[in-house]
Amino acid sequence: MNVHEFQAKSLFAQFGVPVPRGKEITSPEAATAWANELNTPVFVVKAQIHAGGRGKAGGVKITKDKGAVAGLAKELIGKTLVTHQTGPKGRKVHRLLMEEGANISKELYLSLLVDRDTGWPMFIASTEGGMEIEVVAEKTPEKIIKESVDPAVGFQGHNGRNVAFALGLQNIEPAVINPFVQMLGNLYRLFMEKHAALVEINPLIITKEKTLVALDGKVSFDDNGLFKHEDVQKMRDLNEEEPLEIEANENNLNYIKLDGNIGCMVNGAGLAMATMDVIKLAGSEPANFLDVGGGATKETVAAGFRILLKDPNVKGVFINIFGGIVRCDRIAHGVIEAAKEVKIAVPLVVRLQGTNAEEGRKLLAESGLKLDAANDLWEAAQKIVKLTGKAA
Ligand code: GDP
Ligand code: MN
Repeated sequence: MNVHEFQAKSLFAQFGVPVPRGKEITSPEAATAWANELNTPVFVVKAQIHAGGRGKAGGVKITKDKGAVAGLAKELIGKTLVTHQTGPKGRKVHRLLMEEGANISKELYLSLLVDRDTGWPMFIASTEGGMEIEVVAEKTPEKIIKESVDPAVGFQGHNGRNVAFALGLQNIEPAVINPFVQMLGNLYRLFMEKHAALVEINPLIITKEKTLVALDGKVSFDDNGLFKHEDVQKMRDLNEEEPLEIEANENNLNYIKLDGNIGCMVNGAGLAMATMDVIKLAGSEPANFLDVGGGATKETVAAGFRILLKDPNVKGVFINIFGGIVRCDRIAHGVIEAAKEVKIAVPLVVRLQGTNAEEGRKLLAESGLKLDAANDLWEAAQKIVKLTGKAA
């Protein structure tokens, strides 16, 4: 689960990581009121969406004029921001963060995530702050600094000093070395205590006053740890989530919307990945990842099918089930059930194998549903791609 910048910053503040004074704003009137209270020479008004790249897309406004903040708020609220992370559709802005401006002397990059190779929390830092870190990593990999922390021992001062000196803070601004080491320790505590999956500050700035300030903030949480953190759960913003994914979540389905046009209903994450691969190999693109899971009932299958068909991009559906714990006849019942409620106006290819596959096929054949049956995965993929036409 992701949260907004203003929420990430409130967590930073809780854990002793310095942030600008700021507040969430949802109306021009509130912007004026907060500007009067802030009483600072420079005001920064920032669109809050779950995507980066807002600066370049016009989502970050800076003004010295207190009288201008209401106008800026009016301009941003309701606007659809298109950044390199939102996709071409963009994201509608519903809330803002309004904070005091900072005197930037140097922008750094800092994040903490789980290193998939070692399974340890790992800091990533760079002197190239404010830039897209993926670009830095690709063009100038020597500017990416990594420091892993042994979770059995926890964060140690030397972890922080390793990063500080690798960044060259001794040459950039020695006064911030100690606060920097302390900040890394605080971020580590936040990361562990709140079961975060990613904490990112880009840019982390050194101010002209020789202090460190987190000017941006991103925190993602491990969904499996969310039940332990009511405060974090409350930060969920459904505006920022795919409506179909919310509905899938409520039905205990693992569904991720993608951009293609072949809807996939599969059991098991491995088979779902293989199905997506084979669709691409056959020349098209999957519209989603959907794992109905091992414990799929008639109801969950029906829910999955309804969700698939609600996506207007779906021009065909491929049901690929290997019956193990989940029996093929149950899947067939679910599909028939769903077909009673929603009209299936697109081609349907079904491949059932494994437990009760025969019964499942028989049920579907006798249901009167218009569908193509296939036994082989490659044959099935080619069939559905042919029926839907190649991806644009
Ligand atoms: P992002 O583009 O979505 O990552 O949004 P950021 O929060 O990183 O803001 C983008 C850029 O705006 C930063 O890299 C800064 O250069 C600039 N910026 C943000 N806040 C301030 C501020 O208080 N003062 C100044 N001068 N620039 C700021
Ligand atoms: Mn940023």
